[in-house]
Amino acid sequence: MGNNGSSGASRRPSGSSSSSSRKKSGGVSRRALLIGGGAVAAAGTAAVLARDTVKRLWWQVPGVEKPRKPGELDYPGATWVPASEANWRRADRPDDFPVDRVIIHVTQGSFASAVKVFQDPAHQAATHYIVGQDGRVVQMIRELDVAYQAGNRSYNERAVGIEHEGFVDRPKDLTKEMYAASARLTASICARHGIPVDREHIIGHVEVPGTDHTDPGPHWDWDRYMELVRRAATAPATASPSASPSAKA
Ligand SMILES: [Zn+2]
Repeated sequence: MGNNGSSGASRRPSGSSSSSSRKKSGGVSRRALLIGGGAVAAAGTAAVLARDTVKRLWWQVPGVEKPRKPGELDYPGATWVPASEANWRRADRPDDFPVDRVIIHVTQGSFASAVKVFQDPAHQAATHYIVGQDGRVVQMIRELDVAYQAGNRSYNERAVGIEHEGFVDRPKDLTKEMYAASARLTASICARHGIPVDREHIIGHVEVPGTDHTDPGPHWDWDRYMELVRRAATAPATASPSASPSAKA
């Protein structure tokens, strides 16, 4: 669960608050921005020194937007449903932060309720993807952006997060279709970011340092899941058999 899981609802996504990133962007002046944007000939020494900072922060400056295509997906097997912008932070991964973790969550609720809370600006948390018990996948945040998912700033910055529809104390919620769809998604994320397919890099929310969340819970079958991810990682790309007819895993 992103942040309001029954497994220990912490009210604040510690280390991931949007206010801290806004504070940072306050230091970037319009002038520095123009320089960072390419007018280097006009740059003095200070501006050159500022360039690295500007490169990292320019997308946070009001009025400047990195060009993105609306509805663009990182994973072709997903459907795009945008999360509220209050639940993630604009970034430029992997250029600003390397991506080296996949974090597995369980929603503690229905698919629809997870979509709804991730669209709610008051929720202050979300993951990049949600996988349903029927194997459907929605992407709500671009992988280049930082999702407030783990309650740990550095893990948020380095990870892609996947929610799974269900409750941690209900083993039957963890369906075959969900495992299979999630494994294809994780294999794709690992391939695209060069993440090793192992338990050091594919972790549960519970394994994030400092978290008080317990998901994906004791019924999540890691051996089975990792085997499916390994299989999907080595299999040739094929059409997804269920839920996403247009998908290419
Ligand atoms: Zn979680």
